[in-house]
Amino acid sequence: MIKKICFLILYFISPALPIIAIYSSNPGYYGSTGFIPMVLGSMAFTWLNMQLILSARPKRIESSFGLDRFYQFHSLMAVIAIVIAFTHKLLQERTFSESFQTKLGDAAIVIFIIAAVLALVFMIDALVRIIKPLQALRVFAQKMNLGKYNMHVLLHNLNVVAVVLVFIHVMLSYSASNPFVKAVYILYSGTAIGFYLYHKVIRRYFLNRKFVVEQVHAESSSISTLILRPEVGEVFPYLPGQFGFLRILSDGISAEEHPFSISSQPSDKKHISVTIKNLGDWTVGVQNIKAGSKATLDAPYGRFSPLKYNCENGIVLIAGGVGITPMLSIVRYFHQNDESQKLMLFWGVNDQEEIICSDEFQTFQEEIQNFTFIPVISKDKNYEGEKGYVTAEKLEKYINLNGYDLHKLQYFICGPAVMQTSILKSLKLMGVNNKNIHYERFSL
Ligand SMILES: Cc1cc2nc3c(=O)[nH]c(=O)nc-3n(C[C@H](O)[C@H](O)[C@H](O)COP(=O)(O)OP(=O)(O)OC[C@H]3O[C@@H](n4cnc5c(N)ncnc54)[C@H](O)[C@@H]3O)c2cc1C
Repeated sequence: MIKKICFLILYFISPALPIIAIYSSNPGYYGSTGFIPMVLGSMAFTWLNMQLILSARPKRIESSFGLDRFYQFHSLMAVIAIVIAFTHKLLQERTFSESFQTKLGDAAIVIFIIAAVLALVFMIDALVRIIKPLQALRVFAQKMNLGKYNMHVLLHNLNVVAVVLVFIHVMLSYSASNPFVKAVYILYSGTAIGFYLYHKVIRRYFLNRKFVVEQVHAESSSISTLILRPEVGEVFPYLPGQFGFLRILSDGISAEEHPFSISSQPSDKKHISVTIKNLGDWTVGVQNIKAGSKATLDAPYGRFSPLKYNCENGIVLIAGGVGITPMLSIVRYFHQNDESQKLMLFWGVNDQEEIICSDEFQTFQEEIQNFTFIPVISKDKNYEGEKGYVTAEKLEKYINLNGYDLHKLQYFICGPAVMQTSILKSLKLMGVNNKNIHYERFSL
């Protein structure tokens, strides 16, 4: 929490340095007509550079937000920075005529706007879930072969060109004739571009953890587990429930990175696994990956782990479909390390075919003292257990059967967006406090 607050304070006061530097370079001018455009320009300059830093997903900052919330902050702040840049442009236009320097600033704003619109429509699922016409636009673009996520990641890099244009724009400005102001411009833009290069080049080619695919295990007709072994040394420390960005370096599958929850548990230092459902262009090729292929994993990310919270009164895990993967890691962890943990797992699936690792769940039920496993099956009328969806009634029924206090439990939800929304509603109805509810979205 303290890390998060410090980051937010630093983020919001970061324009203060250029504002003070520019103001003190010419208080006569900037103290009168030029003050507001200068302040807006400094804010836009600083916060647009900040977006490059955020897009490098620095682990220390991400770990206090969770990557989905961190990206939401990034998109909101990017839009705010662009609006401020545009207002700065409108106010400056009244004072200065068009010059090469202002044209560079204009070009940067146009690039930022295009990149932001493309990202909001094609890369961020939160808006698309709410605004129906955006969904239709996405489907149309996909049909025209323009909707591929990784093509948009590539287009998103246009922002770097815009940041460079902004840098030249400020360096050509009158304010940069002051050496201290010039140094601040170089410091801010240099840091932003440094973070970007670190993420795109150094982390990707030199720092990512390297693995070898030891086994590709078919869990069902559509789900496979990749068991990876570190190329050298041991598996890095991670918490059960966290995720990473996987890249497979092998012929026959593109080298793009995709996020996956880690399904193994962290006490196994020799192997790490991810369990993947084939849902699209890239994941459909996973079952054809050959043992011996090289892989990299940029991890760990996320806050979706009981080890980050006080869970002494019990944990309720609620999974939908392939949303079971972080739960697998969590249950495996407690099986290995703390068999007395009060643990309930509700797993909503369409039919029994979807229940992977059933033998392992049988073992967990026998060996973890306080483990309750409740599969809930929606499309099999002959199933003898719980049928339909995971609802408030079902949650309350099993919580009461175990004699737990529902207000003192920690709830972890992972599954399709519709299911998450309905479970969140149920938990609110049951009077569960927000701070006891944690969820992982399988989209960013
Ligand atoms: C934190 C997190 C954990 C996840 N854990 C698992 C897991 O354990 N098992 C599992 O089967 N799936 C998991 N997913 C989902 C998985 O990442 C997507 O199913 C996969 O990336 C889809 O790729 P595709 O090209 O096959 O599908 P597409 O049809 O091309 O993409 C479907 C959707 O997946 C998202 N997506 C596609 N490519 C990427 C990418 N490179 N980076 C980010 N998002 C992308 C986009 O929202 C896109 O609309 C997780 C996702 C997230 C965000």
